[in-house]
Amino acid sequence: MANPAECSIKVVCRFRPLNKSEVARGDKYIPKFQGDDCVQIAGKPYYFDRVFQSTTTQVQFYNAVAQKIIKDVLDGYNGTIFAYGQTSSGKTHTMEGKLHDADMMGIIPRIVEDIFNYIYSMDENLEFHIKVSYFEVYLDKIRDLLDVTKTNLSVHEDKNRVPYVKGCTERFVCSPDEVMEAIDEGKNNRIVAVTNMNEHSSRSHSIFQFSIKQENSQTEQKLTSKLYLVDLAGSEKVGKTGAEGTVLDEAKMINKSLSSLGNVISALAEGSSYVPYRDSKMTRILQDSLGGNCRTTMVICCSPSSFNDAETRSTLLFGQRAKTVKNSVCVNVELTAEQWKNKYEKEKEKNKTLRGTVTCLETELNRWRIGESVPAEEQFDKEKAKSEVQALDVTLSDKTTPASPASHASPAHSGLPGIKLAPAGTPQCEAEMAKLYKELDDKDDEIHQQSQLLEKIKEQLLDQEELLASSQRDHGNLQTELKRLLAENESSKEEVKEVLQALEELAVNYDLKSQEVEDKTKEFEALSEELNENLSLATIDSELQKLKEMTYHQKKRVTEMMSSLLKDLTEIGLAVGSNDIKQHENSGVIDEEFTAARLCISKMKSEVKSMVKRSKHLESSQADSTQKLEDTERELTACRLRVSQHEAKIKSLTDCLQNVEQKKRQLEENVDALNEEIVRIGAQDKVHVMEEKNEIQSVNEVKDAVEKQILSHREAQQRQISNLRDELDHKEKMITELQDLNQAIMLEQERLRMERDKLKAAEQEKGRLLQELTEQQDKREQTRQDLKGLEETVARELQTLHNLRRLFVQDLVVRVKKNDQMSSEEREVSTAQRRKICFLENNLEQLTKAHKQLLRDNADLRSEIPKMERRLLTTVERVKALEGALKEAKEIAARERQQYQQEVERIKDTNKPKNMGRRGSAQIAKPIRPGQLPGASLLNPNGNRSNLINNYSGIKEGDDSS
Ligand code: ADP
Ligand code: MG
Repeated sequence: MANPAECSIKVVCRFRPLNKSEVARGDKYIPKFQGDDCVQIAGKPYYFDRVFQSTTTQVQFYNAVAQKIIKDVLDGYNGTIFAYGQTSSGKTHTMEGKLHDADMMGIIPRIVEDIFNYIYSMDENLEFHIKVSYFEVYLDKIRDLLDVTKTNLSVHEDKNRVPYVKGCTERFVCSPDEVMEAIDEGKNNRIVAVTNMNEHSSRSHSIFQFSIKQENSQTEQKLTSKLYLVDLAGSEKVGKTGAEGTVLDEAKMINKSLSSLGNVISALAEGSSYVPYRDSKMTRILQDSLGGNCRTTMVICCSPSSFNDAETRSTLLFGQRAKTVKNSVCVNVELTAEQWKNKYEKEKEKNKTLRGTVTCLETELNRWRIGESVPAEEQFDKEKAKSEVQALDVTLSDKTTPASPASHASPAHSGLPGIKLAPAGTPQCEAEMAKLYKELDDKDDEIHQQSQLLEKIKEQLLDQEELLASSQRDHGNLQTELKRLLAENESSKEEVKEVLQALEELAVNYDLKSQEVEDKTKEFEALSEELNENLSLATIDSELQKLKEMTYHQKKRVTEMMSSLLKDLTEIGLAVGSNDIKQHENSGVIDEEFTAARLCISKMKSEVKSMVKRSKHLESSQADSTQKLEDTERELTACRLRVSQHEAKIKSLTDCLQNVEQKKRQLEENVDALNEEIVRIGAQDKVHVMEEKNEIQSVNEVKDAVEKQILSHREAQQRQISNLRDELDHKEKMITELQDLNQAIMLEQERLRMERDKLKAAEQEKGRLLQELTEQQDKREQTRQDLKGLEETVARELQTLHNLRRLFVQDLVVRVKKNDQMSSEEREVSTAQRRKICFLENNLEQLTKAHKQLLRDNADLRSEIPKMERRLLTTVERVKALEGALKEAKEIAARERQQYQQEVERIKDTNKPKNMGRRGSAQIAKPIRPGQLPGASLLNPNGNRSNLINNYSGIKEGDDSS
């Protein structure tokens, strides 16, 4: 570790290949490369530390340019890599590339990976704390990309007068993945915040910053360092490219930071005493990188197309100018207590020698003042004292490496950066300036706060605008709805008119119909009366017929009787004729006989009467009997049905019986066979027994015994069979009974079903009739009520009209009377009055007409009312239904929102442990120690990574040698 070493900014140049559109346009490829540090454009050579051709791959470029910076940064030096060039010259390609593509990734992701790998390969006593920040500078405003709410941050100086972005998010990271996460997040935030990303990225600078602290647990040595990775805005002039939609001020602002970068570099290159770092925020942030304590590399990105010729040349010139800038770099060591103590002691010593010098000088001065001349050898030795102090200084800085830039800064940087300090009276001036700068910083802070406020207000404004737009939309909707309703109203009015007309017609029709109905009812009454009469006539007719028949019969009998009587009488007359003489004698007898005949006749009469009675009785009895006959006939048909069913049943039963009998027979045969078998076996048994006992007497005896047995068996069988048959009979009987019962039940069921059907039909018919009747009744009721209302109103109106007329007539009469009383001179006036009256009467007539019209209108409107009411009701119902639907929809929406919120909460909860330690002000850092090398970080798909540690040793060696 040594004093600040001077080193110039390293500038490399990279040409991209011609892009598709340039090739399509037929652009020429203009650069010509000479060696690896020179490029010629139109014959003019430009020299750089290195020049990279279009074919250079990302890995090659990284290895050649950026890899070395890792060692520097981890050794305690500050580092910066800039990418400068016109838009689409390959700045972003160089710095970021495709972040998650192993081949196409740029410098930043490779550095991220390698920093950690390098740390893992370092001394195990070291402990690292790494923080990252990501921000962009647009229109001279610093926007935090890791916290979108910080939109205008200010730049302050720390205690060592090194500028830093105050309040920007610093996220502690422990692994490459966490850094990449932060980068992804920042890039997303950047995209979300702007409308046109291409335009935005070409006009804004993006800065990714590592802050690394390391502590050696053995030596307690602490190193700090910063690494800035800067993707600058396009170097072309905004005004020149004619950026659309930017007002002049904005264009100026866009150019400002880059032009002030140019100015700073020019000032540094020329060794000017004033460097305008404070002209823009960007130059201020990178103050240390440009002419300060930092190892800086600038990548000059160029397009090879002839189309961009001019821009390429100015870029190359810029790079050449930057190459002349000198930085003074040193390791950033934080002193330990021991080192501070040493330093203090040395300072004390230095102080002592200086005091000695002062007293020495004072005594010499006093001698000179009193006129004494001091010989040369006694005079104060300036050179010796200087060398003494310098020696002290050297030992001091040897033991305590400078921690503040004040001790290492370049002349332009010393004290207050960018300000040339007056040689005398500096303390006052310095204090003044410090005060002013502090004020400036405070103002910056204020601006920051104000801009934050502005941002909030803008947001609110946006919300309000949205609200306004939505309410305007609502308004539009409502107006269309209103229009629709008006049209509907119009149409309904017309409808109402039509309905009124129809109603009028109906009223007229109703009058006609009621008239008709009355007529009809009258007619009907007349007809019903007639019908009644007719009915009685018919009965009478039939009675008459009967009576006629009877009388005919009786007449017949009477004539028969009479003829028999007459016969008798003729016989009597004959008898009388033959006995004339005896006539007188017999006259008494005749009389007697006559009376007897009379008696007889009267008897006959009574007999006839009784017969008539009897015949009547018989007729009535005949009616009864016909009734009975019909009943019996019906019963008979039912019986027949039953009989046929029974027959069918019997058939099925006989079939069944036959089956059973067949089975029985089979069983019997089986039994017989079995029995015979038994007998045979028994006989054999016996024979055996006998043989055993040797008592076989004779075959006959055996035969007898067998026969006896067979006989006894047969008897038993027969008995069994008869028993079985009895049982069978009994069962059959039971079956037939049951079938009869079943049949009866079925019949009954059939009958009941038919009856039920009939009843149903009747009921339906009745229901229909009832409905019709109720409908008619309702209609009638409705019209009656309507009519009643109409009548009432008309009556009322008429009454008022009458009253009016009466009043008018009275008035007229009074006037006429007055007129009569008037003198003849006034008669002329009266005629005029009469005319007037006439006119008035006419008027009255017209009025009455109008009144009538009004009445009619009124009636129309009244009749309209129920319809409108019904309409209103339906509308209200519809509104209710819609309200219900709306409420439901709202509920659903609320539920969904709740679910959504819950989901968000859940996601937050799950993310919380992941994000812990990076949000909020208090951040907990997990220190990173060498030797913790996680397996995953070395298993990189890129082949170059596997021998990383070897590479680092290479870097270290290279550095030492250089
Ligand atoms: P800038 O950031 O300077 O505006 P970009 O980095 O976005 O430009 O590059 C513009 C286009 O050119 C991109 O599509 C990029 O992939 C391509 N490009 C730039 N440099 C190279 C290169 N060296 N090799 C291949 N393609 C490149
Ligand atoms: Mg870019």
